[in-house]
Amino acid sequence: MFDSHAHVNFKAFKDDGDDVIKRSLESNTFIINVGSQYSTSQRAVEYAQKFETGVWAAVGIHPIHIKVKSEKLKVESSTPSQSPPQGRGEVYFEEFDYGEYKKLAENEKVVAIGEVGLDYHHFDGVTGISEIKEKQKKVLKEFIKLANEVKKPMAIHCWDAYDDLFEILRKNPIEKRGVVHSFIGSWKTAQKFIEMGYKIGLNGIITYSESYDKLIRNIDLKDVLIETDCPYLNPKPLPREDRNEPINVKYVARKISEVKGIEIDEVERITAENAKKLFKIR
Ligand SMILES: [Zn+2]
Repeated sequence: MFDSHAHVNFKAFKDDGDDVIKRSLESNTFIINVGSQYSTSQRAVEYAQKFETGVWAAVGIHPIHIKVKSEKLKVESSTPSQSPPQGRGEVYFEEFDYGEYKKLAENEKVVAIGEVGLDYHHFDGVTGISEIKEKQKKVLKEFIKLANEVKKPMAIHCWDAYDDLFEILRKNPIEKRGVVHSFIGSWKTAQKFIEMGYKIGLNGIITYSESYDKLIRNIDLKDVLIETDCPYLNPKPLPREDRNEPINVKYVARKISEVKGIEIDEVERITAENAKKLFKIR
């Protein structure tokens, strides 16, 4: 199996990250740890280097961590991904440094640029929204330039911004394509990205309700990557509030196999092949 988007590099795993990874590798689950800012990107690379195989890294700045002019640089606190931060003021903000990220991105264990993208969801009580959107788009385009320079695909985060993302990818194609991770759009929206050659990343969210069953039924398995996005989004039937970890990606595979009416082994095998192919892992 392949957890194509994990964050064992985050603070939630600071005491037992190595054990979590070992547990995952023992159950034959490979991992890509994804950075959301410079420090976690660096830690993702460190983890990848520590293990001979089975662990790789992606480096990038999550859109909610992008520094905008009107905001002061804050001290690092938590690094939320899909779990909404308690107001942007408590999150870390970073200015994108192309040269620094290029150095990280060139590491042979780095198989993707990410997570980067657009997040228009976390705008509650925020001023200067248009400024923030413009900055997110600008940084995304710069990261696309980097992905094309180092010839790697991209792990894209997108929340409440699929139209803008589609436009940017259409005008600024990523040569090696990538995955629209934690996909929560419709089947129709998924098709637009698939037509451009992107994969759709599914995680625990699809186990919470039947809302994604139509997408799952229609999508060709060859276009799907599975992921945990751990420590977030613990899949059903596990308790939602518990810390998620890579081995739980099997519950995502199980949900897909149930909805599609196919063997779970097939879901695990094909989605792992997709990940290996996209991220050039042999
Ligand atoms: Zn993530």
